[in-house]
Amino acid sequence: MALTGTKTYQNYIGGEWVDAASDETFESVNPATGEVVGAFPKSSAEDVDRAVEAAKDAYQRWHLVPAPKRAGLLFRVGQRFIDRKDELTELMVKEMGKVRPEAGGDVQEAIDMTYYMAGEGRRLFGHTTPSEMPNKFQMSVRMPIGVVGAITPWNFPIAIPSWKIAPALVCGDTVVFKPARDTPMLGERFVEIFEEAGLPAGVLNIVHGGGETVGERLVAHPDVPLISLTGSREVGVRTAQNAASLLKHVHLELGGKNAIIVMDDADLELAVDGIIWSAFGTSGQRCTAASRVIAGAKVYDSLQSQLVARAEKLRLGNGLDEDTEVGPVINKSALEKIHSYTEIGKDEGAKLLTGGEIATENGLDKGFFYRPTIFADVDPEMRIAQEEIFGPTTALIRATDVDEAIRIANGIEYGLSSSIFTRDINKAFRAIRDLNAGITYINAGTIGAEVHLPFGGTKQTGNGHREAGQAALDFYTEWKSVYVDYSGKLQRAQIDPGE
Ligand code: NAD
Repeated sequence: MALTGTKTYQNYIGGEWVDAASDETFESVNPATGEVVGAFPKSSAEDVDRAVEAAKDAYQRWHLVPAPKRAGLLFRVGQRFIDRKDELTELMVKEMGKVRPEAGGDVQEAIDMTYYMAGEGRRLFGHTTPSEMPNKFQMSVRMPIGVVGAITPWNFPIAIPSWKIAPALVCGDTVVFKPARDTPMLGERFVEIFEEAGLPAGVLNIVHGGGETVGERLVAHPDVPLISLTGSREVGVRTAQNAASLLKHVHLELGGKNAIIVMDDADLELAVDGIIWSAFGTSGQRCTAASRVIAGAKVYDSLQSQLVARAEKLRLGNGLDEDTEVGPVINKSALEKIHSYTEIGKDEGAKLLTGGEIATENGLDKGFFYRPTIFADVDPEMRIAQEEIFGPTTALIRATDVDEAIRIANGIEYGLSSSIFTRDINKAFRAIRDLNAGITYINAGTIGAEVHLPFGGTKQTGNGHREAGQAALDFYTEWKSVYVDYSGKLQRAQIDPGE
């Protein structure tokens, strides 16, 4: 039960704010201060079933609303995101911990995605193509599918829901949204904005609660043909397994172990800026965070000393303070996991250059703060160079040339983001071709995706789908091929004319 004085929020099902079947709640906590942000229903399968029923019923009407009219809702939502940007930004700093400029960026991404997908209402292009026969017309069109289960992580608590929900709705699907347990308040506000913008009942529903209960029921529910989940690899695998017997369409956006390559000819100052931003921005809690730096022999020592100097200057603190550069990590278990990797790195024989400890000074002990951590002399096979830590820890690895650097960069199970700093156009294009990742940056860090390009990764970062851009539409629709024969006689396709 929630503490006395803590406001308890509800689920949103079929256009109504409603209590969950059980009266149990969980609390959302500010990771910088330990203060309780709010209490939320610990929902069960029963609540999911009600939400799916509402979304299924709403689908009957929503998929028949013309797409430009569906887009009208998104345009109004986009405007409300703009109107409420400051409020959402501040709430994100309080609930998730990222610093204010990054929180504002998260909201901005939702604004951009919502408008981008609203524009799709007047596109959703199919294809026309000539027929092999006379007097016959043919085309392919995108068809909506049904109810989407949208399951999201806490690290982009407004942006990632928009990546799933905006394309789903413009395509004519309806949604049951399960936000992460660490950021339910932002999920609640997200849905409230849709309600304010005139959301028809049941088109978007939110059910709060845990992955094992709410998430698993959504994945198993026979009336939810689409599951879009962003999260860890382990949860992704389990989700794919749970959805397999119903042959659901499952879109998985999972982890990363992203590398920045710094060649000997790189602009070192620029590379240092890119690494500091990519490794320690959002306290390293981005799926695209640079948790490996692969450097040429000539720049290695200088890079190492510049990175340490810069990392040690980063100011830790509450993201609401103007001068804070690195906020907290999301919760206690994340803090413990990150610290356990410091111990693993030391045991493996890597050299800890800086950080490697929980920060407790000046009231930081009230929250979950970890010092920016850099390891040197890291072997590419060490666990700290292979496994996703999801915290402010990065590993320096040596490489003799571009071939070895790319080999090391690719020598992991993930394939999300990648980067190379070089002034040599030939090396840059080799990297574009050979880095096995969904995203490659040239002379920029590993983070900074824009909403109109596909987003996602190769190998175990996902299962081949992409979020954002036109690519997202492929998940939320199915193709129908249409043949219109106006010859007035039976014309047989794919039959040898001689027969
Ligand atoms: P997580 O896997 O613990 O949880 C993600 C979501 O899945 C949450 O809503 C959670 O409640 C739910 N969930 C958990 N178990 C479930 C189950 N058995 N069935 C259904 N749903 C379940 O991840 P997290 O800690 O919230 O986020 C961090 C992870 O997300 C990192 O691995 C990060 O790399 C990844 N991530 C990937 C991307 C991307 O686009 N590739 C973006 C952001 C984060």
